[in-house]
Amino acid sequence: MTEQTFWTRAVHVGRDDLADQGLHAVPLDLSTTHPSRNSRDEAERLDAMTTGAQVSGMPIYARLGNPTVARFEEAIAELEGCESGVAFGSGMAALSACLLATVAAGRPHVVAVRPLYGTSDHLIASRLLGNQLTWSDPAEIGAAIRPDTGLVIIETPANPTLAEIDIRAVVDAAGDVPVLVDNTFATPALQRPTEFGAAVVVHSATKFLGGHGDAMGGVVACGEDFARGLRQVRIATGGVLHPSAAYLLLRGLATLPVRMERASATAAVLAERLLAHPRISAVHYPDPGKLGQLATGGAMLSFETETSPHEVISAVRLITPAVSLGSTDTLLQHPASLSHHIVAPEDRAAAGIPDSLLRLSVGLESPDDLWRDLDQALDRTG
Ligand SMILES: *Cc1c(COP(=O)(O)O)cnc(C)c1O
Repeated sequence: MTEQTFWTRAVHVGRDDLADQGLHAVPLDLSTTHPSRNSRDEAERLDAMTTGAQVSGMPIYARLGNPTVARFEEAIAELEGCESGVAFGSGMAALSACLLATVAAGRPHVVAVRPLYGTSDHLIASRLLGNQLTWSDPAEIGAAIRPDTGLVIIETPANPTLAEIDIRAVVDAAGDVPVLVDNTFATPALQRPTEFGAAVVVHSATKFLGGHGDAMGGVVACGEDFARGLRQVRIATGGVLHPSAAYLLLRGLATLPVRMERASATAAVLAERLLAHPRISAVHYPDPGKLGQLATGGAMLSFETETSPHEVISAVRLITPAVSLGSTDTLLQHPASLSHHIVAPEDRAAAGIPDSLLRLSVGLESPDDLWRDLDQALDRTG
């Protein structure tokens, strides 16, 4: 199947077997338990599941596995070019499982680069899950690695500054230590971190993968060894993805390449117009040519206003004033108040997130309609 393009696979992943079963829509299995008259077999499969193994056949209980969720996992693994996918109830549950599995494996030290999504920053900095932490510049990662380092964590492009990191350089500096890339902003439609040596790819599937702002989920794409540790954690801690959400997330993948192409083109237009606006002092939008990692600049941008960011938020009319991102409609939010509010002001400053920054998640509306709304909002707040 690898000779088919990414666009084609995005439409068909997770549903290659349907036509032969006379099905068109993906079957949604809402069972919490799965009857079986063979409890000897169930006990055996349960033993295998407890080791984190991916066990075939009917699942036993919904916390241990679900067929609709398994389709979404298979789909994201293929699109990210990985052996395995392990899905969770949210992006934070996915990242938590990566940390718990790393701590449980006896290498609790994490090296991470700021900025990260606000709650990701908070989770690892608070050491809530028993990890240790060294913040590092991308160029200093080699020096930050210790014998007990179990994970290097980066986001590129990063939330909310769109800062980009050379994944290959980080992987080289990390040596044996797996590098985890949060690929929520780019999605595999624009960037596949494993092509640059990353071992673990994390998504808030709530965002672009689902794409419609109506399903929460998280997923990790990785090698089967790491996936086993994640399944062990998931079985025991229960942060599972609901099958209804898996259904919606898998449906979202079919339009992912089309949505990312359209929204990226609009974002590039808006970035250019914002840069020329007298009340905007800086625009952050990736240049795909710089590192050669991204296919386009993507659908996210952020900008610094000379007027009050709170007033801009209250003045938009077409654009939705809301946290989150990756929906069909365009969303505007103030990181210091919302997505990164949980990070202490001095740490936000250290991460390069000024209070004047606004983050825009570009949707599928026309660029001219969006620009008219931004322009009137900036004028009204002048
Ligand atoms: C939203 C987000 C998360 C957290 O995901 P949830 O689904 O909200 O738990 C993690 N990383 C990034 C980059 C995000 O934007």
